[in-house]
Amino acid sequence: MTKSAPLFNRLALIGTGLIGSSIARAARAQGAVREIVATARSVETRRRIAELGLADQVVESNAAAVAGAELVIVCVPVGACGGVAAEIGPHLARGATVSDVGSVKGAVIRDMAPHLPEGVHFVPAHPVAGTENSGPDAGFASLFVGRWCILTPPDGADSGAVEKLAAFWRALGATVETMPAAHHDLVLAITSHLPHLIAYTIVGTADELAEVTRSEVLKFSAGGFRDFTRIAASDPTMWRDVFLANKDAVLEMLGTFNEDLSQLTRAIRRGIVQIGQDSPAPDFGRPHPDLPVEPLPRPYAASDEG
Ligand code: NAP
Repeated sequence: MTKSAPLFNRLALIGTGLIGSSIARAARAQGAVREIVATARSVETRRRIAELGLADQVVESNAAAVAGAELVIVCVPVGACGGVAAEIGPHLARGATVSDVGSVKGAVIRDMAPHLPEGVHFVPAHPVAGTENSGPDAGFASLFVGRWCILTPPDGADSGAVEKLAAFWRALGATVETMPAAHHDLVLAITSHLPHLIAYTIVGTADELAEVTRSEVLKFSAGGFRDFTRIAASDPTMWRDVFLANKDAVLEMLGTFNEDLSQLTRAIRRGIVQIGQDSPAPDFGRPHPDLPVEPLPRPYAASDEG
């Protein structure tokens, strides 16, 4: 990637864990901003941000962080976004762009928008990139390279501000797509939120098996279980917030999934014969690989995290 001229003078990061610290590292590496001011909830995390040299200034409060910032990115769990918006609202510079990185968009817009004053541009975003790790040490500059960043600007959003934020994410290596928040939440419910729910559940199920020890589960996890344990190692607070904030779409997908699972349970009970799975081409309800398939529309094909 070639470095661009700085797009914003001062970037304020509220919350500097995996995603916030990756933005700091990438923005600096790409010269996307002139100056970075960062903060976090706890004194330990703020100290660590300073030790790692992730920002030009580390400040103690959210209000202090946004003073004079042209771009503010809120990188906290989705359930905390509304409270943060209420704190920073009165301190935002006129003309500033406020964004976030939350894995759910409808609830974040509902919670943040009422606290943002006139003259400030609100452009919510979700970089569809992440790992199971948390905190400022877990971030890295290349996290967003080749990944999607979905912008969900509300109706009437300033097109110049939307385009400038898109340019920022492109400078960090992401490919940007814009869509309505409700559509984002439905797409991510199936591509990300449901898989995390399943992973948490299946790891819990394995844990309850009295006759199979935990060390056996880990030892033989290459048999399909390893990815579940990796995904289920993700921060439970972040995911609790995601499931609650995207409740309707997650419940809709869970309902469909439960129906499919019940059908499969019945089929296995009956020996799979009655539903035609004893054919030379069993498909378990999925399109058979030999059939021509329509490619998934972007960005669904590339999404697997956050
Ligand atoms: P993280 O590593 O746990 O970092 C969270 C940051 O938010 C920390 O700096 C934390 O400060 C701060 N924070 C936590 N609770 C807070 C609260 N109630 N009020 C104010 N600050 C608070 O989390 P992350 O993975 O970067 O996730 C941040 C956001 O990115 C979430 O909204 C998530 O949905 C979204 N996201 C995550 C991924 C992923 O794969 N992880 C991918 C895409 C988007 P302390 O350390 O001081 O507690």
